[in-house]
Amino acid sequence: MSLFFGKTQGLRKQAGVAHRSLDRRTTLLQTAVIATVVLVFSAAIISYNAYRVVTQTEGRLANILRLAETSLATAVWQLDHDSAKDFLDAVLMDDSVVFAQVIAENDIVAERIRSPFYNRPFSYFESTPRFLSMTTEIRKYGEHIGTFNLAASTEHIHKDILISAGYTLALALGLILIITQATLHFARKRLILPLQRLEAAALTIAEGNLETPVDTSPAGELATLTRAFEDMRQSMRHLIKDLQVANARLEDHRKHLEATVKERTDELERNNVSLNNALAEVRTAKRAAEKANLAKSNFLASMSHEIRTPMNAILGMADILWETELTTDQARYVQVFRTAGESLLEIISDILDLSKIEAGRLLLEETNFSIAETVDKACAVIEPRATHKSLEFTCTLAPDVPDRLVGDPTRLRQVLINLLGNAVKFTERGSISLNVTRAPGHDGGHTVQFSVSDTGTGIPGDKLGSIFESFTQANSSTTREYGGTGLGLAISKQFVHMMGGRIWAESTPGQGSTFHFTANFAPSSGTAPFTVEENANAHPELPAASILMLEDSKYNAFVIQTYLKDTPCRLTVAPDAAQGLKLFWQGGFDLVLMDIQMPGMNGCDATKAIRQWEAQTNTAPTPIVALTA
Ligand code: ADP
Repeated sequence: MSLFFGKTQGLRKQAGVAHRSLDRRTTLLQTAVIATVVLVFSAAIISYNAYRVVTQTEGRLANILRLAETSLATAVWQLDHDSAKDFLDAVLMDDSVVFAQVIAENDIVAERIRSPFYNRPFSYFESTPRFLSMTTEIRKYGEHIGTFNLAASTEHIHKDILISAGYTLALALGLILIITQATLHFARKRLILPLQRLEAAALTIAEGNLETPVDTSPAGELATLTRAFEDMRQSMRHLIKDLQVANARLEDHRKHLEATVKERTDELERNNVSLNNALAEVRTAKRAAEKANLAKSNFLASMSHEIRTPMNAILGMADILWETELTTDQARYVQVFRTAGESLLEIISDILDLSKIEAGRLLLEETNFSIAETVDKACAVIEPRATHKSLEFTCTLAPDVPDRLVGDPTRLRQVLINLLGNAVKFTERGSISLNVTRAPGHDGGHTVQFSVSDTGTGIPGDKLGSIFESFTQANSSTTREYGGTGLGLAISKQFVHMMGGRIWAESTPGQGSTFHFTANFAPSSGTAPFTVEENANAHPELPAASILMLEDSKYNAFVIQTYLKDTPCRLTVAPDAAQGLKLFWQGGFDLVLMDIQMPGMNGCDATKAIRQWEAQTNTAPTPIVALTA
């Protein structure tokens, strides 16, 4: 606003200068125009007066000439000098006539000359512009008898002209003065003042004052202009009022918007804080859950290990007992021991696997293996059970399935045994079959599909999806009838996923089920060593070896001692790593059986210590076999 006002101050100064200049210019212009017009008219009047004086004089002189022609004819004919002189005296009554002469033939009949020009001939008056000279013939009966010469002074004419010009010019000046004043007064009143008022009004508008009305009293074109200005002022006033209203509304809206934004921001901040709190709580809960899960998995893992250790001892003892002389009843009891122990061991293995998977500690092997061999081994485990239940058992491997692959044959066999075991478990009559086919492969590898079909109880449709969850069984009555933990399929699913495949089931209750799973394997490089699983049932002849066993469980030590009782091997048992190392350093052992988990130094560290000692003493490395429950 101050900037704007500063500008209008400047405009006002300019306008003041313009007023004075406009006034002066208008005065000058009007005076010049009026003076020019009046002077032109005056010049015309003066010219006309001069012309009139000259023609009047000439007319008067011409009349004298005509009079002379008639009046002097008789006087010249008769050479009447007196009559001629009288005529000339009469002629000289005219003030302007300075010379009059009557000539008969060559004689001057009469002559009259005004005093300053005595003795001047007629030719003197003819040759100067100060005189007007005229001549006429005097005739009698048509015959030339004489001449009348007349000269008149132009001084009168000039005087008359000058006097009339003086009057005219004086009148003209007076007129110029009056007209100029009148027109100036008129112009000021009708034009300049309204224009100045209009200009003042425009400046007032320019200063932002739209409340002062523009004076619309001037008439004519100025009236239109002032009315247009007034209309413009009113339009601008309305426009500014509208703008002010709109601005006020906008301001209200902005304030409202700001308030809403602030409200929302506060709300968001509050939400954010509670969200952050919730997030922190969730994170804490997640950490706690992860910790609890890890603790659970660790607990399960160590519990399974702790249970397996005595279980191995029990099973080992049952095996040894089975080899001894037994009565029929004793043999049945020992068999119950063995079967129950094996089932328990299976459950414990499942729990251990699952807890390892959940803790992310289970990794698949990457080894060259034969798929046919792995399938054969799984079938070899299941076939006796199927035969025992009088079930037909078939196993087919499509010829296009590549035999040599890279993967984890142990876990693959575990999945197959689980599915085939379930098929046998839930089938009372009919058949079990395993089909191995090649599926559309993945980049750079082979996908193999395994399908296990049975003609057993089947699974209700609504349970097909949930049976792969851990501890889930399709029907609780099956638990009672067939036993089981509901862990097998959950573990299988995890292994299959780790092998890059998927597992799913199709089933019709009462008719049977088919379990499919796919697994991805890398093609065998051909150079890597090929895993050939040893036949666990083979019993090679043992040499008379000296064996050092590091084992903290006296039951396990007793089992091994019992196994080796009737062999040429000599077994020395150390209850921990420290004592075992001392014995080893004394030397003389062909083989070391090393328990992995021991109090104090564990099996891995004890092995490292042995290898270090061997390197320092330059002794050949002794084979070390790891033992664990
Ligand atoms: P488990 O067999 O130890 O109970 P699994 O996870 O192997 O545990 O199986 C989960 C459940 O799925 C079983 O309890 C059973 O109800 C159902 N099931 C699995 N395989 C079959 C099958 N071949 N026929 C019918 N039901 C099956």
